[in-house]
Amino acid sequence: MNLSAPLTIALSKGRIIQQALPLLAHAGIAPLEDLGTSRKLILETTNPLVKFVIIRASDVPTYVQYGAADLGVSGKDVLLEHGGEGLYEPLDLGIARCRLMVAGLPDARVPASRRLRIATKYVRTAERHFAAKGQQVEIIKLYGSMELAPLVGLADLIVDLVETGNTLKANGLVPLEQIVEISSRLVVNKASWKMKHEDLTTLLGLLREAVADRCLGQ
Ligand code: AMP
Repeated sequence: MNLSAPLTIALSKGRIIQQALPLLAHAGIAPLEDLGTSRKLILETTNPLVKFVIIRASDVPTYVQYGAADLGVSGKDVLLEHGGEGLYEPLDLGIARCRLMVAGLPDARVPASRRLRIATKYVRTAERHFAAKGQQVEIIKLYGSMELAPLVGLADLIVDLVETGNTLKANGLVPLEQIVEISSRLVVNKASWKMKHEDLTTLLGLLREAVADRCLGQ
């Protein structure tokens, strides 16, 4: 792919980058270093005008919103929390699929004396979900290991990502309600979309092809 201007792509390590790299390879973009061993946060790629910035998943929308990256790959869970300001979300990449769910102990009961306590990293999405059902809840913000909260009496329920359900099962929890299906999305800075429209349209077309090929191969 011949570009007319440099492009910076924000990616996060783990599932997202592993599953996004084959799609980017279809556009001739691959990192020049081994991501497993490199500790660099800015990586050159096989396209001299394209570089990757490697950041935390929850920071991807922020880097793209402020134009520190022209585009990025972000989970819908993270985008729902961020709010999507300053971003276009032109393509569902169909990768890192899972579900955002309410889960708890099999005998979880609504306490009569207080509001239901929900432990989650996804504060905004959880608040919206329970408000839409007219349920007043107390949200307890956690940064990880949500599954522990009902086991030690910190919360009645959790809101977390579920893929196979194995983590819930291993901790004696059950899925109770699906909030939303999650996959990773391509996000583009709104100003970049205008200024680098031709380059971004070409890249988007190639990624769209790669997503379609991947779906056919499944
Ligand atoms: P599982 O045991 O397969 O249901 O996976 C659940 C665990 O993996 C939870 O700790 C989730 O937070 C995490 N997880 C599952 N899917 C994703 C995803 N697409 N992105 C990030 N974390 C995920």
